[in-house]
Amino acid sequence: MTKDVFISGGGIAGLSTALGFANAGFSVVLADPAPPPDTMTSDGSDLRSTAFLQPARALLEGAGIWEALAPYATPLEALRVIDSKGTPPEIQTERTFQSTDLGEAAFGWNLPNWLTRKVMTEAAAAAPNLDLRMGVGFQGLLARETEAIVTLTDGTRVRAKLAIAADGRASPLRQAAGIDVSTTRYGQKALAFAVTHEVPHDCISTEIYHHGGAFVLVPLPDVKGKPASAVVWMNDGARALQLMALEDDAFSATVTERACNVLGELALASPRRLWPVVTQTADRLSARRVAIIAEAAHVLPPIGAQGLNTSLKDAAILLDLAKSKP
Ligand SMILES: Cc1cc2nc3c(=O)[nH]c(=O)nc-3n(C[C@H](O)[C@H](O)[C@H](O)COP(=O)(O)OP(=O)(O)OC[C@H]3O[C@@H](n4cnc5c(N)ncnc54)[C@H](O)[C@@H]3O)c2cc1C
Repeated sequence: MTKDVFISGGGIAGLSTALGFANAGFSVVLADPAPPPDTMTSDGSDLRSTAFLQPARALLEGAGIWEALAPYATPLEALRVIDSKGTPPEIQTERTFQSTDLGEAAFGWNLPNWLTRKVMTEAAAAAPNLDLRMGVGFQGLLARETEAIVTLTDGTRVRAKLAIAADGRASPLRQAAGIDVSTTRYGQKALAFAVTHEVPHDCISTEIYHHGGAFVLVPLPDVKGKPASAVVWMNDGARALQLMALEDDAFSATVTERACNVLGELALASPRRLWPVVTQTADRLSARRVAIIAEAAHVLPPIGAQGLNTSLKDAAILLDLAKSKP
């Protein structure tokens, strides 16, 4: 099979890149061994959410996918930052920033990752110019002067002008291209899960700082008729493992206390997942006929909500380069 572009990895970054290139008229094939889970509670479901900031929305509009995502997006109209102290934590000081201060309706739009990936996969399956191979992985690379010859796990051979590695922090395509990474570990882990709460979030994202790490509540659409938020809670590794081991009721009570009661009682509304907090950078962003993007190129700690937003920028820059030199 001959295509303009091969993409290894159908996470949110790989799918956005595929849709952007296909929308611009390039022929694309994308392979990923793991099809997207159907529901939030399915095995392997990515329980993180992404606050897509203003530039990311423009990029998703350019890729023709924003319209399909918009119904699930919660606008982030304000950011409340709280400093807390003591046991149990109590609010010391706080400050709220309004998006209208910048003349914007919202700082960004929050979407659950599992749902974003599902909606994007459906759009990719229907897109002209895009051959979606879910359930099939990248296996081997032969990089020639004029083309990359890629072998997939089902034996398919793809000849492409460009092979893009969007296959995550352990990127098999990056490794096949002989590119190393530098990794910094912080001894922290981030717990990601969803909660429902008594008090509506009013489209306000809340960050509560305390020794041990930040605790962030990001607005989601209602779950079972109740206001809901995605939570990222950073802790040192040992404490994070203790929290993972708690029964659901005890965990919900601990989370309510950690949240300084800002949204009333919180109830766990999803499984919990644990992510190591690391910074990782690829030593190079390209090799012959290969480009490295998204977490294959750079992993950022979650606080700051920049990881995937930065990855979408990678995709946009790569597309601009491809358009200027097809
Ligand atoms: C707790 C937490 C909260 C976060 N919150 C935010 C936020 O608010 N805003 C933000 O911008 N970022 C955020 N991030 C970062 C963001 O979640 C990640 O950058 C993003 O999900 C990574 O997407 P990706 O597509 O690069 O990688 P992945 O989602 O890891 O996708 C890689 C894909 O490659 C596939 N793959 C693996 N092997 C192969 C193979 N052999 N062949 C083909 N495909 C393969 C995998 O199956 C997978 O689907 C957060 C991160 C964490 C840990």
